[in-house]
Amino acid sequence: MDSNHRLQDVLDGISLAEKHAGRNLGDTQLIVVSKTFAGDQIEPVLQAGHRVFGENRVQESQQKWPQLKQKYAAVELHLIGPLQSNKVSDAVALFDVVHTIDREKIAKALAAEMRKQGKKPKLFVQVNTGMEEQKAGINPDKVADFVDSCRNLHGLEISGLMCIPPFDENPGPHFALLRKLAKRANVEELSMGMSADYQLAIEFGSTCVRVGSAIFGAR
Ligand SMILES: *Cc1c(COP(=O)(O)O)cnc(C)c1O
Repeated sequence: MDSNHRLQDVLDGISLAEKHAGRNLGDTQLIVVSKTFAGDQIEPVLQAGHRVFGENRVQESQQKWPQLKQKYAAVELHLIGPLQSNKVSDAVALFDVVHTIDREKIAKALAAEMRKQGKKPKLFVQVNTGMEEQKAGINPDKVADFVDSCRNLHGLEISGLMCIPPFDENPGPHFALLRKLAKRANVEELSMGMSADYQLAIEFGSTCVRVGSAIFGAR
């Protein structure tokens, strides 16, 4: 099966989960995660009309997306990997959405760079719902304060929360926690759900799922 058949399968899977959860069709945005795949592997998905893509590395994205953006209008690019201070300027220049704000330093640098470039990417705060040592993200008990300081100290508009549940755990409780934290922090959107669990994430209220291998195959 090629990537476009798999794209259609995932789109059908999303509609089915929305219906099952009693949500409106089209409530959930599909971010096709194209990290590690080259332009010629991504192009069939662009040709099928999909425009929303996610990447986890700024440098890799700079190498492939400027050309693709020239060829295909209205691409929306999401940064879903960790953001380092020295890449903030490049990230603001290239990405329409950043899912991985997780510390003061990055919030401050983003705010400054957004003013400088006159750009307003949509922003998510990443939450380490499993409190895993090696994983990026704010601890759950700090989320409300951090979102407040993004807003009030740095003037950033935060649209939602993002999480990557621990690899070896049932993701349901993590999705439920993220939803609860979002309500508490007064943000609308939930970036959660990947190839293995996007339908479950939609049941828990996800507004954007990030799906890579289910469309492009194993990395
Ligand atoms: C790679 C990645 C995904 C996609 O994972 P798949 O299992 O291939 O769907 C989603 N979110 C983040 C943050 C990623 O790094």
